Amino acid sequence: MNIIEDFIPSNRPNRPGVTITPTSITVHNTGNTNKGADAAMHASYIKSTNDKVSWHYTVDDYNVIQHIPIDEMAWHAGCRKGNETSIGIEICMNQGINMEMAEENAQQLIAYLMAKTSITDIKKHQDWTGKYCPAVLLKEGRWEQFVRGCFCLFEEKKNIKKEHWAKIYYQLLINRGMVIYEERFDDPITRGELFAILCRMLEL
Ligand SMILES: [Zn+2]
Repeated sequence: MNIIEDFIPSNRPNRPGVTITPTSITVHNTGNTNKGADAAMHASYIKSTNDKVSWHYTVDDYNVIQHIPIDEMAWHAGCRKGNETSIGIEICMNQGINMEMAEENAQQLIAYLMAKTSITDIKKHQDWTGKYCPAVLLKEGRWEQFVRGCFCLFEEKKNIKKEHWAKIYYQLLINRGMVIYEERFDDPITRGELFAILCRMLEL
């Protein structure tokens, strides 16, 4: 997944520059079903609007565009607490979009953010103010499924990251036919064991 950074200029009214420590991720649908209302269009809108409205990422079926750093407040939740504690993600719903791909991109983005920030609280916009948003996911009854997908991807990322640096050496030795009963990568080795290994290597 490639994230395009296209930040709102820092002097714009919808980029207040307030530092936050986010504790949740809030999911929205744009509500814009017009043709061409994709991530690029929203990126250009958000940079020029005088409305006090902003969010961190817009996702469509091909792109993820970031508008504001995640440690800066944006105006997306409709309430102060939401804005001050949550990363806002808008999923496009423009005419002709491949919704499945757009939602998968959003899930990839969320899993990436979960791994990066340790945040595991995934909210709907509705959780903050009751607004019917993300409308597509709510209307089609797929919210729970969407969140489960985020967690699955997050687990996958964690498992990849968890692999020990020495695993590749272990695997090479196993492939050469060496019998090793336990990995125990971080256990220390004694001088005696080292002597034994050296002797075996030198075939003494
Ligand atoms: Zn919303």
